[in-house]
Amino acid sequence: MIDLSELTIKGACEDLKKKKFSARELTQASLDVINEKDTDIHAFLEVFDDALDQADEADKRIASGEFASRRMPLLGIPIAIKDNMLVEGKRATAGSKILEGFVAPYDATAIRKLKDAGAIILGRTNMDEFAMGSSTENSAYGVTKNPHDPSRVPGGSSGGSAAAVGANFVLGSYGSDTGGSIRQPAAFSGIVGFKPTYGKVSRSGLIALASSLDQIGPFAKTVSDVEVLYDAVRGQDPLDSTTISENTYPQGKKFSKTIGIPRSFVESEGVDGSVKKNFEEVIKKFLSLGYNIADIELPHLKYSLATYYIIMPAEASSNLARFDGVKYGFHKDGKDSIDDYFKTRRMGFGQEARRRIILGTYVLSSGYYDEYYGSALKMKKLITEELKETFGKIDLIMTPTTPTPAFKIGEKTSNPLSMYLADIFTVPANIAGLPAISLPSGFDGNLPLGVQLMAGLGREGNLFIAGKEFLEE
Ligand code: GLN
Repeated sequence: MIDLSELTIKGACEDLKKKKFSARELTQASLDVINEKDTDIHAFLEVFDDALDQADEADKRIASGEFASRRMPLLGIPIAIKDNMLVEGKRATAGSKILEGFVAPYDATAIRKLKDAGAIILGRTNMDEFAMGSSTENSAYGVTKNPHDPSRVPGGSSGGSAAAVGANFVLGSYGSDTGGSIRQPAAFSGIVGFKPTYGKVSRSGLIALASSLDQIGPFAKTVSDVEVLYDAVRGQDPLDSTTISENTYPQGKKFSKTIGIPRSFVESEGVDGSVKKNFEEVIKKFLSLGYNIADIELPHLKYSLATYYIIMPAEASSNLARFDGVKYGFHKDGKDSIDDYFKTRRMGFGQEARRRIILGTYVLSSGYYDEYYGSALKMKKLITEELKETFGKIDLIMTPTTPTPAFKIGEKTSNPLSMYLADIFTVPANIAGLPAISLPSGFDGNLPLGVQLMAGLGREGNLFIAGKEFLEE
């Protein structure tokens, strides 16, 4: 019996190479725990029926002398993916009824790269509808539970992918992060979650929420595994003109292990005592590891959430305009084609998606454009410049990942504003395009807590160095 809770991706690659077990056995181990436990957690929307066939393919390669290497870094490793990443021939719904029955006609670039890397695409995981949410309660296909406490949320929107790793169903998974959707559920599920610099991973074949903010990124139990998963999918892509090359951002100054703490931001209203206490312990640990800790002032950071909640719905309202009941998935007949459109969208989109479409359309409408969208863009520029200047002096910025540990299912569903506050620490990285990682940093009772490190553009390497030292890898 393979115990997935004792295994990492790096370890499994070694074991596959040493023939301690086969890719089929490793995949079967995942299928067995999913079968046994996912009825409670509901991390997966679908486990693909060809998973074992993919494993057999990997075993053939292994038998012919191939093993996890630079060329095929994930050979034989089962991976879960968020339901907004297209896998050719498989369903993809982005957690929405409006995409019910939609079958992807091609592979997302990240999926193609995963297949090339030898990974087994095990199945698709639950998510908030179109990645809108912080709890995975906004899915049209049911709620996902926190693997540490089933009465609580796993975070969101990539809650299924986070829970799948947190519950030891798989060793690694992918999500997408527009405002925190990888880092926040990673913190709630007690694992590592990483959002790359904007443009490092192709968005081709990722169902868009807000195109200027979205990035695909990995979840795993260790920073080393996250690095492997990130390396497998990154790279410039002709299918996504916003992707960047390795040289876009010069490596610049040497890593001097200086961490800046935006004190007044960390002490924002609504941050739990347990989170603050844990954060102080994290600071002590970094000091003991030889890091320099400096207080920094980032006076515009407090406007990040407001800025995000204008830019994101504006882009979402435009991206979601394509779901018209004609081209994809769900369709509802009305009395004429305009009525078809209204009925399809009214019934196909959930409440949160409709709220954001209305908000987005409003902030983009003539008369309000300058006041809302225009102001948000100006603020985005100020926040970005402020962060850029700060990264000239320090290497990393540290905050808690979330203001509270995982909250109860249903606790915030009737109050969208309180739900939005769950992203207070994570949205600045998306606004400025910066790489950021969430590391498990301790517990409040049985509930995991996370700490977030942010780095300058293209400096993900520094996050991996600090992350590995912190987790003693
Ligand atoms: N929770 C945030 C939101 O609701 C972030 C979502 C995301 O990163 N996809 O928009």
